Amino acid sequence: MPLLPVYADVAAAAWRLHGHAHRTPVMTSTTLNRELRCEVLFKCENLQRMGAFKFRGAFNALSRFSPAQRRAGVVAYSSGNHAQAIALAARLLDMPATIVMPADAPAVKVAATRGYGGHVVFYDRYREDREQIGRQLAERDGLTLIPPYDHADVIAGQGTAAMELIEDAGPLDAFLAPLGGGGLLSGSALALRQLAPQCRIYGVEPEAGNDGQQSLRRGAIVHIDTPRTLADGAQTQHLGQLTFSLIRKHVDDIFTATDAELVATMGLLAARLKLVVEPTGCLPLAALRRHAQHWRGQRVGVLLSGGNIDLARFCALLGADAATAPSY
Ligand SMILES: *Cc1c(COP(=O)(O)O)cnc(C)c1O
Repeated sequence: MPLLPVYADVAAAAWRLHGHAHRTPVMTSTTLNRELRCEVLFKCENLQRMGAFKFRGAFNALSRFSPAQRRAGVVAYSSGNHAQAIALAARLLDMPATIVMPADAPAVKVAATRGYGGHVVFYDRYREDREQIGRQLAERDGLTLIPPYDHADVIAGQGTAAMELIEDAGPLDAFLAPLGGGGLLSGSALALRQLAPQCRIYGVEPEAGNDGQQSLRRGAIVHIDTPRTLADGAQTQHLGQLTFSLIRKHVDDIFTATDAELVATMGLLAARLKLVVEPTGCLPLAALRRHAQHWRGQRVGVLLSGGNIDLARFCALLGADAATAPSY
């Protein structure tokens, strides 16, 4: 297994990102604090460049390429935020990016990736293996493959959001982040263990895909089928080797949230904080609302990981929810 990243790697990533990533705001809502009986500090990565924290890991990883790697370029496989993050970071660093996407990926995502200058290569998600296609392209054309979470530079870059949260908001009793493949949670843990050693660290997964929770309990990486959930940023089938090692070492517990809770929380964030947050980004606040008694009277950091949701879909989900649950 490659070496695990450490806090110094997060600090180095913060220097590389300086002037390139946004230092996103920390927001609060007095009304929400009163309802939840704790003080919630929202780190707004939905307002990050390209709409999610993934820009941090992508830019950090690409910044470390050698001149020869830069000339050949990067390849990534993703239909979501990682694709856009790699495409944008590559454009800013003036290198070519190839993104392997399923042929049936939503047109808006393909357009967004191309809009950032990414060269899109399609594959058949039912007959072909995207990792294999990525590796073949990497070998054939000398490209460097950057995976979405199980990579030391990606993990270190993702950790810079939690680092800024502590710098800007002060010490925390608890911190909650969404959990997909674990890059965000493990990077956050590296930052928090150094900067806020007393802070308890929690991940939140979709209830339909709780492989991380199962893995933590079993002490080994559990693989599941692709879960059906609105939280498309956390539809991973398993944690990575690096991310699992760090999560096992540093994370206190993993909670889950249902799709209905994610939609209700998306409406709450729009109504109270005027923020558009995609379903995956709603995972931590949804868990905080369900288990509010756990954190009564505490200062709790909540990472709002992204805001990339098609506006028509956002309205449709909230409209359908408002019909059954009118009170945000
Ligand atoms: C990728 C992603 C996640 C999950 O991050 P991991 O590093 O895979 O755990 C959460 N929220 C959003 C918006 C994402 O794009």
